[in-house]
Amino acid sequence: MTQPKVRVRFAPSPTGYMHLGNARTAIYNWLYARHHGGAFVLRIEDTDRERSTQAAVQVIYEAMRWLGLDWDEGPFLQSERFDLYRRRAEELVASGAAYRCYCTPEELEQRRQQALAEKRNPKYDGRCRERREPRAGVDPVIRFRMPDTGETVLEDRIQGRVVTPNEELDDLVLLRADGTPTYNFTVVVDDHEMDITLVLRGADHLSNTFRQLHIYRAFGWEPPAFAHQSLILGPDRTKLSKRHGAVSVLQYRDEGYLPEALVNALVRCGWSHGDEEVFPLPRLIELFDLDAVSNAPAVFDFEKLRNKYNAEHIKLASRERLAELLRETLARRDGVVLDPADPRLGLLVDGLRERSRTLVEMAEGARPLLAEEVVWDEAAVRKHLQGEAADMLQALVQRLEALPSFDRPAVLAALDGLAAERGLKLGKVAQPARVALLGTAVSPPIDVVLAVLGRERALARLRAGVARAAGG
Ligand code: GLU
Repeated sequence: MTQPKVRVRFAPSPTGYMHLGNARTAIYNWLYARHHGGAFVLRIEDTDRERSTQAAVQVIYEAMRWLGLDWDEGPFLQSERFDLYRRRAEELVASGAAYRCYCTPEELEQRRQQALAEKRNPKYDGRCRERREPRAGVDPVIRFRMPDTGETVLEDRIQGRVVTPNEELDDLVLLRADGTPTYNFTVVVDDHEMDITLVLRGADHLSNTFRQLHIYRAFGWEPPAFAHQSLILGPDRTKLSKRHGAVSVLQYRDEGYLPEALVNALVRCGWSHGDEEVFPLPRLIELFDLDAVSNAPAVFDFEKLRNKYNAEHIKLASRERLAELLRETLARRDGVVLDPADPRLGLLVDGLRERSRTLVEMAEGARPLLAEEVVWDEAAVRKHLQGEAADMLQALVQRLEALPSFDRPAVLAALDGLAAERGLKLGKVAQPARVALLGTAVSPPIDVVLAVLGRERALARLRAGVARAAGG
């Protein structure tokens, strides 16, 4: 028998920004689809019209695009499918699996309070289950008739076998009095209509799944497989939240993270492959599957995201891509606008990628090399720009002036030649030069600094350095 084609979905509610938990769910589903050659469906669950906003929908699209999670079908908007849900709800009323309930919100609240006071289960007491007559002046809701006894079993692909007693399941509302459908109902109708084969989502939906299983059964539909990912925890092992600095996915973009680094960090939060930590995307697609997803809650390590995943992916990224990302970062954060074809971008990437953990750090490292004015670090000047430095820099100026081309190998050869002539280590020549060129003793490799500054500007600064050292 052939297996049906894998079809998974990401179904966010557009009620806020896209946080790390949502992003991980999207990534797992996308990887699962790509690994199995299946389809990845995007569905926007905007049935709660008061809490859903257009802006939040746009943020979801933007975050998905930034992360590189392309969808094969959709986006489907549940707000455009209300007729379908109403029709399906009526089917359940007709078959007796659901019923109209005329209890008013005030009555329900009063009974709930009373049940709580009497230490009884405050769930709906089922009094409209057998009712056939409408009640004047009350718009009914449609409720699902849950079984009162027995238990519901879920064979979860991550959590294993999970069982819940049916008495804990409420006769949930499928359609509200204003005719709008509820989450637990639309999700079943859509996962069925969209032929979803696996529902992969956060463990916070586990209790909903038991309810949803009964709705599938009432329709006579085969439910999909379910897999519930355990929570993401902050470093203090409580549920990850803003308190831990867990922000919107797009904020990581703005802070200089590469999408593949965030994807890597989030995938590793619950999934592993031996001791391997850094995975390029194609390797994740090749390796990712559910059997290596842990059911233990996993800690999200912000330090590691920066120091390890982002730093490593910066090393792996292509020079062209980093040059473009550096250009964007400089323009956005520093108002430094460079032409995409500016050759300095590639040089800056070469000089800075090994030492930068984020694009923002790279831009900060690049800024002194792009600045019009030298900002002097006086301590560095005192240490490196005095006495014999004047003579040495003068000799360097002469060697550089004589160069036919001013590229990295040529300037480096000039520095090496001078160091050899004087019996010095390269650093002894490079440090004074660096201070003269940039005002500081910390910078990318000296040949990168010279090549980025260019012949004219570099020579002018070195000459000024000679004057300063001679006068100091
Ligand atoms: N819309 C739900 C949420 O954002 C997810 C529903 C689901 O995956 O079944 O939490």
